[in-house]
Amino acid sequence: MNDLKILIDMDNTINDFTFQFNEYLKRYYNTELDYSVFENTYHIEKAIKLNISNKKKEKILEEIFAMDDFWLTIPLIDNQVYKVVKELYSDYDVYIATSPWRYNDKYKSSKIEWIKGNMPFIDTSRIIFSSDKWELEGDIIIDDKSEVIENCKKNGFITIMPLHMYNKNTKADYSFKKWNEVLTILKEIEEKRS
Ligand SMILES: [Mg+2]
Repeated sequence: MNDLKILIDMDNTINDFTFQFNEYLKRYYNTELDYSVFENTYHIEKAIKLNISNKKKEKILEEIFAMDDFWLTIPLIDNQVYKVVKELYSDYDVYIATSPWRYNDKYKSSKIEWIKGNMPFIDTSRIIFSSDKWELEGDIIIDDKSEVIENCKKNGFITIMPLHMYNKNTKADYSFKKWNEVLTILKEIEEKRS
């Protein structure tokens, strides 16, 4: 096994959180996301296509997040991610690093249940809950959030970022559109090290 420690984010990195939120807006609120909002920001509630106050939009977000099945049924982000993460898990020292909503036990256990259901090869002791991921120990981080990428870069991580509209101006060391590209990226990182 390789000694590189890799931290992998969940929402919008291995799962399609944005898609799921849009599905719930359609199903329960008869509306959807205005994706153009993500050109500027990733405050998902601001992208709700309803002519209502931000406070009311926040309330919708809270209602959706409070539904247990919302978290448990988020789909994988692409058809390669399962296979690639499984391969990484057997070759490297892999941890899931995620920041649960509101940081309470209910949301933490939803995250654990999602991993059990979708990536059962991951030992749940390898799930780390943190919002300041740059303070964690690790060599490589895979994360979609600009703030995480920038701070981890400063703290010596090699950063790999799944590309989304809202992070297109963030300069990660490596970025990708499909998960199968991550294997090539890791080979490149290994070659640079040796
Ligand atoms: Mg994320």
